[in-house]
Amino acid sequence: VSAGNTQVARRRFGAADVAICSAGRIFEAHPRFRADRAWRTTATIDDRGRVIHGLNTAIVKLGANIVVIDPAFFQDEDEASGFFDADMAQTAEQALSTLGLSADDVTHVIVTHGHRDHYWSVLDTRDDLPCARFGQAEHAVPAADWLLPYPGALLGTAVGDGFDGMTEGAFVTRLHTYFEPIRRDGLLRLIDGNCELVPGITLHHTGGETEGHCVVRIDGGGSSCWYLGDLVHFTAEVSDPDIGPTRLGSQQLAQLSASRKQVFATIASDPDAEVVYTHAAFPGWGSIRRADVGGWRWEAR
Ligand SMILES: [Zn+2]
Repeated sequence: VSAGNTQVARRRFGAADVAICSAGRIFEAHPRFRADRAWRTTATIDDRGRVIHGLNTAIVKLGANIVVIDPAFFQDEDEASGFFDADMAQTAEQALSTLGLSADDVTHVIVTHGHRDHYWSVLDTRDDLPCARFGQAEHAVPAADWLLPYPGALLGTAVGDGFDGMTEGAFVTRLHTYFEPIRRDGLLRLIDGNCELVPGITLHHTGGETEGHCVVRIDGGGSSCWYLGDLVHFTAEVSDPDIGPTRLGSQQLAQLSASRKQVFATIASDPDAEVVYTHAAFPGWGSIRRADVGGWRWEAR
């Protein structure tokens, strides 16, 4: 935990300084996971029966680069209303200033996938006009989430015609609207497949949660940290990789499960690797280990 700010937790991985910053929590009244799977055993549930999700943004300093992963900070509670209720922990500026940084110091922004809780704070306003909050940063966004190659690519092929009170078209429009000033300023980079964004920071395409979903490996030399985005929502999904959101179709669930197994095996092969996922209870540090019974298990760190 950083001095004076209990919502920022820093760890070092070789040359990489990784700060997990809580943007707050979201409360999901109607969790859309299959009731016959044991995800509830590892969920945080409040006295109203709502699932509480953390909202963890990573800010990474590595070499000359400052990289923000999944800028989940929202500006007011109205922005979070709709399907989700949320409470706010801090703004992007507060998290950055704890680290001695400002938004203009950020060189890169990574968005693991095109759901709004993972890109809320890319947009700012200046003189009442929308502008990029991280005005010097290249923004990496999965191409498949931006381009919507088939119906259901962003929300899931089993979702029917909407989610969160919105159609999938409206989800894509919102994504494009938030990134319009970034695109206009030449700061948008659509990512296809795997890519080393800067030395030591690599995006690995997984699909699953969305068609374009990526996880991020931060390799500081000697030790590494993985930011899993929404590859995992509950730690039960580590030991049972077949648990997934009911909005996904069977092919998407199969892709999610296969990608998890591949990523978990890679992480478990490195005894020092640490892991964070977006919706863990802050700060959410953990590791993924081989289980005696086969498969993997989550271990808090
Ligand atoms: Zn999410």
